[in-house]
Amino acid sequence: MIKSGAFLLFFALGTASPALAADTWVIQAAKIYPAPNAAPIEDGVVLVRAGRVTYVGKRVSARIPKSAKTSACSGGVLTAGFQNSHVHFVEPRWIGAAHQPAAELEQSLEDMLTRYGFTTVFDTTSDQANTVALRARVEKGEIRGPRIFTVGLGLFPPGGIPSYIHDLPPQMLARLHQPRTAEEARAAVRANIAAGGDGTKLFLHTSPGQGVVKRMSADIARAAAEETHARGKLVMAHPTSLEAMRLALDVGVDVLVHTTLGEESPWDAATLARMKSAHMSVIPTFKLWIYELKKEDAPPSVIDTLVDATFRELESFIGVQGQVLFGTDVGYMHDYDPTDEYVLMAKAGMSHAQILESLTTAPAARWKEEKRHGQIAPGFAADLVMLAADPAEDVRNFASVQCVIRAGETIYSRAGP
Ligand SMILES: [Zn+2]
Repeated sequence: MIKSGAFLLFFALGTASPALAADTWVIQAAKIYPAPNAAPIEDGVVLVRAGRVTYVGKRVSARIPKSAKTSACSGGVLTAGFQNSHVHFVEPRWIGAAHQPAAELEQSLEDMLTRYGFTTVFDTTSDQANTVALRARVEKGEIRGPRIFTVGLGLFPPGGIPSYIHDLPPQMLARLHQPRTAEEARAAVRANIAAGGDGTKLFLHTSPGQGVVKRMSADIARAAAEETHARGKLVMAHPTSLEAMRLALDVGVDVLVHTTLGEESPWDAATLARMKSAHMSVIPTFKLWIYELKKEDAPPSVIDTLVDATFRELESFIGVQGQVLFGTDVGYMHDYDPTDEYVLMAKAGMSHAQILESLTTAPAARWKEEKRHGQIAPGFAADLVMLAADPAEDVRNFASVQCVIRAGETIYSRAGP
């Protein structure tokens, strides 16, 4: 009995790798941004143990244990891991995520997300079972990737699947919810959340064809929002228009996943005041507008005028201290590079610190994770991005990602010099 007990104890210790989990890792950086509004630390270090930050500060003041190991992810400009709050796992490369070879899925995650510093992503409609399977493989440690949150299958007005997603897999389109009653909307929300969903996405006004607009009724949208909030989750909405934004406010939407393109008038003071008092967040998706307008062969002058109007929308929203979340609609948008989005956000008047906030502390606060995520601080998750150059000098440098750490593990490292 004693012998087998001893063996079991040895075996248990062996598999849990206690020595490894207890290791302290040292990450050195020329400059550290602990949080968007905190003073940057020159020549700093971050100590990480068991997936959490244990110290951040000047290298000269750090008490580094003798046994500490130096991370290869060192030497640049360090920030907290980024969150992309508007992505989709809908391209063919994600199909069969439960069974695809791990290396292929990891490459797909790297191409779309990890190489750009995203340690957390929010999927705002996809084939739910597939995205949940992908997430499970990442969380098991089989595939290196970001934390994945998903709203599962979006809710659309009846007959209102928009024309721009008609090329998605037919088996997925068939499963998108199109509730005809408040009770059907509640049932759709319950099914989504029971299947691993982290929120609800409402497509309030949609265009299933040229010149056709379908509208979700207020009672259906409100029922979906109430059912979501009762489960402690948030409601995201595709606004499309100023009119739909007012509907979003009426029914209790938390996050608008776009600005509004092609509106004849700017966001008015009364709507902005309601957005502020309702703590509504906005994801600008400026690059998406250019991408869509180019697909329609819009002339450059038209693109400039329309996109400029969306800059003014965001500017007015920031003017009332509205909360901006970073998001690009990648996955739906096949161009994954976020560089242009950073440039466009700066053009709309955002400073590098405000952009960093939209990538880190703002989403952490929005999803009530502000005590564990979004900053580099003792006790926080060791989700970190090492940049090659300082975004304070040029916001394009937010995309100069050298390596990415999630919960203390390197999930991306740029190959070569
Ligand atoms: Zn989207």
